[in-house]
Amino acid sequence: MADALDSGLDPADWEGLRAQAHRMLDESLDFIRDVRRHPVWRPMPAEVRAAFDAPPPRMGQELAAIDSEFRQLVEPFGPGNVHPGFMGWVHGGGTVEGMLAEMMAGGLNANLGGRDHAPMEVERQILRWMRNLFGYPEGASGLFVTGTSMANFLALLVARTRALGTGIRRTGLSGAEGLVAYASAAAHGCIPQAFEMSGLGAASLRLLPTDSAHRLDMEALRQAVAADRAAGRRPFMVVGSAGTVDVGAIDDLGALATFAEAEGMWFHVDGAFGALGMMSPELAPLLAGIERSDSIAFDFHKWGQVPYDAGYLLVRDGEAHRAAFASPAAYLRRETRGLAAGSPWPCDYGPDLSRGFRALKTWITLKAHGMDALGAAMARCCEVARHLAARIQAEPSLELLAPVALNIVCFHRPGADCAQIVADLHESGIAAPSTTTIDGKLAIRAAIVNHRTRKNDVDRMVDEVLRVSTK
Ligand SMILES: *Cc1c(COP(=O)(O)O)cnc(C)c1O
Repeated sequence: MADALDSGLDPADWEGLRAQAHRMLDESLDFIRDVRRHPVWRPMPAEVRAAFDAPPPRMGQELAAIDSEFRQLVEPFGPGNVHPGFMGWVHGGGTVEGMLAEMMAGGLNANLGGRDHAPMEVERQILRWMRNLFGYPEGASGLFVTGTSMANFLALLVARTRALGTGIRRTGLSGAEGLVAYASAAAHGCIPQAFEMSGLGAASLRLLPTDSAHRLDMEALRQAVAADRAAGRRPFMVVGSAGTVDVGAIDDLGALATFAEAEGMWFHVDGAFGALGMMSPELAPLLAGIERSDSIAFDFHKWGQVPYDAGYLLVRDGEAHRAAFASPAAYLRRETRGLAAGSPWPCDYGPDLSRGFRALKTWITLKAHGMDALGAAMARCCEVARHLAARIQAEPSLELLAPVALNIVCFHRPGADCAQIVADLHESGIAAPSTTTIDGKLAIRAAIVNHRTRKNDVDRMVDEVLRVSTK
């Protein structure tokens, strides 16, 4: 009854609110269940876009009215990655359990910056699971962040602090340190950006050539490191890609581990979507050597199918990780009992102090499906990608532009404008691939990440490519 809560922001009519909440839950479940009946994506009509010009509300409205506004203006015009026809960029499809977890996390409204409470144990359990999955030792640390871009950036800061000592946190870089790092030219754009943001500068990252399989050329790496050492510079880090964003190539992680070890360099793996392939017995062998890395950045929100956002950083040497970020602050004093116990806290491992409960949607997704089923869904994505590649090779007017090592297929129609084809596909509502450039050619790029995407979805995409490019 309304006797206990009268803040003005809690419901005055709990029963009415409950009925409305159940309707909203049903509508969101229907959205996912019936997603195939709707277009992958549709352009927003001008009047829909204009509706977002309204001024901030001075007075509250009925939740039912807000819900119907959401169902009319927002839900139909989403990015489409819940839909099996979505094949653009690298987006996960989400799950119903993940959606429910978001609701439960919202209700609990936990701040996971630190302190001693059960949500922290959920996050710690995921750390133990990830240590186990990646063969990392007991002392390894982990941290939920927004995404792999942030995780890569934090890994760089840890490697930099390890190379220069913690004093660098106070003095800052002078520019004379001579630190240089290496990745392949196929590394994700967030890697050079991490170097920009770190103050080391993108010029201190060498982007090296790739071999015919789009993997980092080990000989080029050896030569570049030798040349830098001869010039008096200090090679400190090498970044391997476990699933490049263009074609899904996996660098030779074992060779990189051996090389980095011999050179005394930090070995970081950008495994944004590919790293969780460790859950699949078919894909794990492709990642051999990842267990010897110093740090791994990956996303639960891509192949892990956890709703956005849920990026993760795993660091072998938890002490090195903490040394890069932990700061004493009077108001964050640690105790051995009470709510302020449970040190170290996640805020000791990164720049975020307030942190949401990303761990819950990850925990619930992993528990609801199990790693075997999630791994099987990843393997199935690769099978769909192989089917797509075979279909393209069988079409005389289409040409495959890169080998299909994992779940990404790049192709084109010689003589046709791939950007126009892809925009037509988006507007058709049938499929949403994206584009990239392979060997100077604009390619149609289909990344199969959504667990719902089946062979007939990619067949429909190819049929539509042929239809729109011949009209
Ligand atoms: C998606 C992706 C990133 C960036 O991850 P976000 O979660 O989008 O920040 C980095 N590297 C690779 C290989 C990716 O696929």
